[in-house]
Amino acid sequence: MTHKKQNLPEKICVSCRRQFVWRKKWERVWDEVKYCSDRCRRAKKKAKTEVGESAVDNSIVNESER
Ligand SMILES: [Zn+2]
Repeated sequence: MTHKKQNLPEKICVSCRRQFVWRKKWERVWDEVKYCSDRCRRAKKKAKTEVGESAVDNSIVNESER
């Protein structure tokens, strides 16, 4: 499943709790990146710190990205 070509840094999205890897577009802000996507960032703004009734959709998993 996980074909690791490179040793890219990884983080856990604080919104959806999924693991995501470093991307080129984050190279300057990686320290500040907390979300796997803009979508999660926005979703998190609504919900506060606690895990509420966040609608977690598992339908969108972008795992085949080479
Ligand atoms: Zn996320």
